[in-house]
Amino acid sequence: QTPDQYRVFGNPIEHSRSPDIHHIFAEKSQQSIDYQKQLVDIEDFSNAVSGFIHQGGKGANVTVPFKEQALIIADELTERASLAGAVNTLSFREGKIFGDNTDGEGLVQDLIANNVILKQSRILLLGAGGAARGVLLPLLAQTPHSIVVANRTVSKAEILCQHFADKRLSACGFQDLEQQQFDVIINATSASLSGSLPPIPISLISQNVVCYDMVYGKDLTPFLRWAKENGAIKVIDGLGMLVGQAAVSFEVWRGIAPEVRSVIDSLRASLK
Ligand code: NDP
Repeated sequence: QTPDQYRVFGNPIEHSRSPDIHHIFAEKSQQSIDYQKQLVDIEDFSNAVSGFIHQGGKGANVTVPFKEQALIIADELTERASLAGAVNTLSFREGKIFGDNTDGEGLVQDLIANNVILKQSRILLLGAGGAARGVLLPLLAQTPHSIVVANRTVSKAEILCQHFADKRLSACGFQDLEQQQFDVIINATSASLSGSLPPIPISLISQNVVCYDMVYGKDLTPFLRWAKENGAIKVIDGLGMLVGQAAVSFEVWRGIAPEVRSVIDSLRASLK
């Protein structure tokens, strides 16, 4: 019997680790799948998806820059995808396209796996782009005390909070954080990609604060290095979120939650 077919669509896509991650999940959970990456031209996303459905594809992940287009082509959306305004997981069944977003759940599962307490915690979310928006609903579902969204362009943080209309959420600029304290700080800006730090006050970092960066790499990101040097109790990068979102997609498609720890460890070793 031929394995069920899955894809990840993106541009660029060469760097994607998703095929490796899903093949390990499948092997460990004895599922028969074939998962390939596919480079798609910017104007060709919808044709690429139709073509894959025509070939019998069962599902696909979607990455930069197609997550908003994937939202548009879906016939049905989960609440978390609709509120995220983006889809990273498509399922093809019953002649329909189902859209989901597993990024936020991947983050939450990684925080929990790292023993970070979210219930009643005061969370600071840095950034108000697609990644920040995608994680808000799953974070709110963990019943935190509050989430402050701080962004360089304050109006974007304000719009994001209005969109969710939840009284635990508030928006501000980095300069407004001076007198505040948090239990968990999550960097959802892309500052680390350009080697820079979001300009947050050093007074936020203490022995009681856990810092998370959605970016990951061979070395600690600038934000995590800065937080560690200034005494944060724990610093965690986004590799676990990457594997976590893949695990939730795998569960959406296959109904089985794969084991993630060993996959994170082997990816970590391959970054060295
Ligand atoms: P967007 O381009 O949508 O948003 C970028 C955000 O970063 C904006 O809030 C922007 O602020 C802010 N920003 C950029 N540069 C700086 C800087 N130098 N100082 C302060 N703020 C800055 O990107 P995404 O939201 O899609 O992605 C954010 C990051 O999350 C990326 O680095 C991405 O790689 C990572 N990510 C990781 C995932 C994982 O699985 N580990 C999953 C998804 C994303 P402004 O609005 O003012 O421009």
